[in-house]
Amino acid sequence: MFLNTFLGIKLRRFAAQIIIIFAFIFITIYIVKTKTSIQTNNRTNTEILFEQENFNKILLKKRKQQSAPNLKVKVKYGDTLESILKNHDFLVSDIVEAIKEIKKVFNPKNIITGKTILIKYQLINKKKKLVSIKIPLQFNKIVFLENAEDKFIGKIISKQTINRIIKKNGIITDSLYLSALKSGVDIKTITKVIGIFSFSVDFQRDIWPKDTFEILYEEELLKYDKSKKESGNVLYASLVLKSGVSLKLYKFTTKSGDTKYFDERGKSAQKLLMKTPIDGARISSSFGKRKHPILGYNVAHRGIDFAAPKGTPIYAAGNGTIEIKKKNGAYGKYILIRHANRFKTAYAHLSKYAKTSGKVTQGQVIGYVGSTGRSTGSHLHYEIIKNGKRINPKTLKLPSGKKLKGDELEIFMEEKNKIERRLDNLDVY
Ligand SMILES: [Zn+2]
Repeated sequence: MFLNTFLGIKLRRFAAQIIIIFAFIFITIYIVKTKTSIQTNNRTNTEILFEQENFNKILLKKRKQQSAPNLKVKVKYGDTLESILKNHDFLVSDIVEAIKEIKKVFNPKNIITGKTILIKYQLINKKKKLVSIKIPLQFNKIVFLENAEDKFIGKIISKQTINRIIKKNGIITDSLYLSALKSGVDIKTITKVIGIFSFSVDFQRDIWPKDTFEILYEEELLKYDKSKKESGNVLYASLVLKSGVSLKLYKFTTKSGDTKYFDERGKSAQKLLMKTPIDGARISSSFGKRKHPILGYNVAHRGIDFAAPKGTPIYAAGNGTIEIKKKNGAYGKYILIRHANRFKTAYAHLSKYAKTSGKVTQGQVIGYVGSTGRSTGSHLHYEIIKNGKRINPKTLKLPSGKKLKGDELEIFMEEKNKIERRLDNLDVY
């Protein structure tokens, strides 16, 4: 009994101690837990409140900006950002500030004629306060100036792009220009291709229906809007003419850094003189519809004619020096250029001259097609003169351009093979 009681007391004490310890632990855990949870809750609440407030502010500002009236201004020749803003009665202080800030990322003199600038503003006391300006640069780049908290901030925004290579081919039904356009090639690329061929092709007389073409070129498009794209380099262009001429030209950058076009044996496409010294894309009259007779070269007509609309640019056929630039009887407005190797070229019936004198480089615009002098319609009369005698450009063998040799030729051949593999493996888009 004594023992029992003794044990009983000891056990009860022990149990009580354990209960107290457990209770202590539970209470501590409870307190700590509640405290932390209160703290976390408090912090979260403030953060949410703060963010909500900020978000509302941003939203409000965005809405304000979005609802701000906007102006779309197409840049005309001679316009500057300053003149545009002044013409639209913006606050002078805003104009000064905006131009100062925009200058940090972009020269506002370089706005591109023909592009559209978007200007947002707010009307305060009948005065226009600038909100933002968007100036398009390239197809994937804009200059963006924004009035944030009464301070202008300018930046350049670029959109992500991807590159691809396009192959197009087709049969010529009217002109290379129109047929390539029909097959989906953009105008910029066609103009480049015509330029590449104008050393060796007479675009008025050498191209006929059922001739064929093939073009390989680069294209850059916006990653998230594939309808916006821009063409890049022409890698390859071929023309197979019924006359038996087959031209295959490959793009290649030489050791000296010149990017030019070479044929399959590595001979430069560029010649001393151009066969078509005019923007070939503008020779648009299709075969059946040529309005006036295009005279070939013969005893009575010692030159060749290119029918093209008035104002079509005329190029210097080769590097040289302008010898004559004046009205010349039946020739009308006339230019004579002296080249190397005792060659001269003459251009007649011009509507007007370009501002050139003295030395000119191949492809430089020297004047514009017209119908001055004895002429029945708008056309260029072109003569090639060798040792003082007018000669038939058709039968003329021109000194050919540079031929690649040694290492350079080897590298070219590798590039050419790469292009050919691409031609074989690419589907036509
Ligand atoms: Zn003529």
